Amino acid sequence: MQLSPSSPKPGTGADHDAQRDAHRRAAPDRGRTLLGPALQLIHTGQAPTRSALTRALDVTRATAGAVTAELEALGLITVDSRPAGGGRGRPSHRLAIDPGGPVVVAGQIHADGLSVTLAGLGGLLDPPVHLPLPAATDPVRMLRAVAQAGAELARGTERRCLGAALALPNPVTEPDGTALAALHFAWPSGTPVADLYDVEVGRADHGPRAFDPLPTAIANDANLAALAEYRHGAGRGARHLLLVTSGHRGVGGALVIDGRLHTGSAGLALEVGHLTVDPQGRPCGCGNRGCLNSETDPDALFAAAGLTPDPGRPLLDQAGELCRAAATDERARAAVEHVIDRLGLGLAGVANILNPDRVVLSGLHLDLLEAAPERLRAVVAERSLWGRSGRVPIVGAELRHSALAGAAELGWLPYLADPQSVTAGQAVR
Ligand SMILES: [Zn+2]
Repeated sequence: MQLSPSSPKPGTGADHDAQRDAHRRAAPDRGRTLLGPALQLIHTGQAPTRSALTRALDVTRATAGAVTAELEALGLITVDSRPAGGGRGRPSHRLAIDPGGPVVVAGQIHADGLSVTLAGLGGLLDPPVHLPLPAATDPVRMLRAVAQAGAELARGTERRCLGAALALPNPVTEPDGTALAALHFAWPSGTPVADLYDVEVGRADHGPRAFDPLPTAIANDANLAALAEYRHGAGRGARHLLLVTSGHRGVGGALVIDGRLHTGSAGLALEVGHLTVDPQGRPCGCGNRGCLNSETDPDALFAAAGLTPDPGRPLLDQAGELCRAAATDERARAAVEHVIDRLGLGLAGVANILNPDRVVLSGLHLDLLEAAPERLRAVVAERSLWGRSGRVPIVGAELRHSALAGAAELGWLPYLADPQSVTAGQAVR
């Protein structure tokens, strides 16, 4: 599956034309055309009531009523008919995601382990299950481990399971779904991860309430984190959202423009990790020196502090603790400032090229921002042409598990485009 086609927002561009055409069509057809845009508005919290939905879709109250009734009949939303507020004025029906509605399996493979959860619409994730990396980290065994963990969750729920989507810590090509430069696990470049994951999910038993075959999808974790932050977190309302993150190892970046991920011609855009920020710096897995990747990840922070992390605990947690120690500890503060100066240089370079209206930082970069927000913002402003004339807002990610939340978005993509496919037994792929 290609990652790019998030359903267009109502009232913009081509979709607006489609919407105008839809007005001319017969009522049942028009209702079906509006189901996807309506569900997306409710999914992203932009239409908490039927009157808000009526305004956002630019339709009559009767049409909005028919659309919400259809989504309710599909088991996706609830329509609370009790008046919201009471008093004078016409009451509006509250719209919410049906808490018993279907789920997708969202998974993530990262340098420290595997994470899986079930995710309903509305960005509502169950608490994730975290598993250690399997002893053998070849692609098939890793993908099998995450597929089986997801299947166990699906078997344990009464809710229908409609798909399984996975976030990976390496670039994933579009549309063929191969992993490139999977440096963490030494996977061969070009490993067909989308096909392998599809096979492993197909072999796992997801229980009687899951679609069979279960649709699968796979994409890069930073891209998915950006999509999730755009829809449910710190990126809401941004037009050109740049996300930069250092998860467990290395640095990833992603750009969402008007609600769509910019993934380049083959899914490989925004590889910001190999921007040089210190020509004399630490060696990077790519063969160069001083990349953002090797200068601003958890290992770099520990190296700057002259400390060795505990190999028995997740590196990202320990790096976060080191950032928080900067408030009281001189050595930690010096290390945080060393890394922040390099992160600021990298962000300034990317901001000059992309001119984002918001920068969201996640993972260790969020901890660094919280440890010294003014220093980071000042470095970016000083080093960026646009930063000097008006600061680019730099904010922290809001979602706790943004890559997992993004995998959930990826799993929901076909159903947001065509909500009626939730009853089909097999989704449009
Ligand atoms: Zn590099």
